[in-house]
Amino acid sequence: MKRIVPILALMTALALPMAFASATSRCEDPINKKCPLTGKDIVAGRTVEYKKQLIGFCCADCVSKFEGDPEKYIRKVKEFKKASVEEISLPVEDPINKKCPLTGKDIVAGRTVEYKKQLIGFCCADCVSKFEGDPEKYIKKVKEFKKASVQ
Ligand SMILES: [Zn+2]
Ligand SMILES: [Zn+2]
Repeated sequence: MKRIVPILALMTALALPMAFASATSRCEDPINKKCPLTGKDIVAGRTVEYKKQLIGFCCADCVSKFEGDPEKYIRKVKEFKKASVEEISLPVEDPINKKCPLTGKDIVAGRTVEYKKQLIGFCCADCVSKFEGDPEKYIKKVKEFKKASVQ
């Protein structure tokens, strides 16, 4: 009976790495379903990693063509993400000011109001609602605010 325990422990130790190996192989899924060069269904194993995204192709010929000029063909992969979502959305959500016009405190992410196509930042929800009640009064305190467009 004493032998059973070490054998079980050994089996558990062996089973764990195997489970991990099968899990990682699933990451081989390409982001696209159709070959960007021919429009045919992609074939397992015919893949190229491009900017950390796996692109699938229908044949080895398309793979080598893609590798010769990836910038040209990647445009046809509509599933391909050009940049991370954060890189695109961050500049849009950037308020023009750094200090709350009502309290002078640092502005907080998400506490913003768009006023005349310019994003104004605030320190809290209370200041946001006060501003929205009388924007003309408080906007004067935002020195970064451009009263009229340059045109
Ligand atoms: Zn092909
Ligand atoms: Zn506030």
